[in-house]
Amino acid sequence: MRTLVFVDLDDTLFQSRHKCPTDDDLHPVASLRDGSVHSFMTAKQRALWRLLDADATLIPTTARDLDSLRRVDLPFQSWRILDYGGVILNPDGHPDAPWMQRMTQVSQETIGELNALLDLVETFIQSAGLSAHVRIIEDFGLPFYLVAKYRDDREDDLSRLQDELVRPWLAERADAYRLHRNGNNLAVLPRALGKEHAVRYLIEHLGRENSELLTIGVGDSLIDGAFMAECDYAITPRGSQLFEATLQQML
Ligand SMILES: [Mg+2]
Repeated sequence: MRTLVFVDLDDTLFQSRHKCPTDDDLHPVASLRDGSVHSFMTAKQRALWRLLDADATLIPTTARDLDSLRRVDLPFQSWRILDYGGVILNPDGHPDAPWMQRMTQVSQETIGELNALLDLVETFIQSAGLSAHVRIIEDFGLPFYLVAKYRDDREDDLSRLQDELVRPWLAERADAYRLHRNGNNLAVLPRALGKEHAVRYLIEHLGRENSELLTIGVGDSLIDGAFMAECDYAITPRGSQLFEATLQQML
């Protein structure tokens, strides 16, 4: 039986230094564009990696684009899911063509509204004097989703943007878009973009080549719950956003 592990990266396999529970035995694993080391694995995260990597195919399932995935120093050797599922790379490192076609259509259908939202957010940041920045994440020539982050430790600024502008905007568009917020990361995604869509596609695709698959989903954020639910088993780090909303309630 072939085992597939769909694994989120940030805050699941590693995190920035200030989020690490201890300074002991940290292993540098991801860097910023300027080359400075930004994220680290703890000893337990490395042990989890070794455990999963020993007998399974690890498939990163991440919001990162190709450029930022390349700055992660982990030896992924098979399929890769990027951009919240916007791009699926095959084991040779090329975008899966049928998936690219499907996501090109999604991107074309939503870029007008995402650009309009970008303008609204930029105007709001300026007029309200917020310390935040916003951009649309593009990869392989396709715009996929909008992301805003706060600066200078002003987390409340991002919450204000979320409550006063983004939530009302989403409410007007019913179910066409969704919000992801976890710490310094506010993302607005079209519904048709999602890790769960890409995971389901790959399970179906690889299921045709293998008589039986065992699938495991690993993630930390509420938004990861949907792709983890596509898998036979689900793993979440203790203390994660997803843990707090689920298992923590049972303690
Ligand atoms: Mg994460």
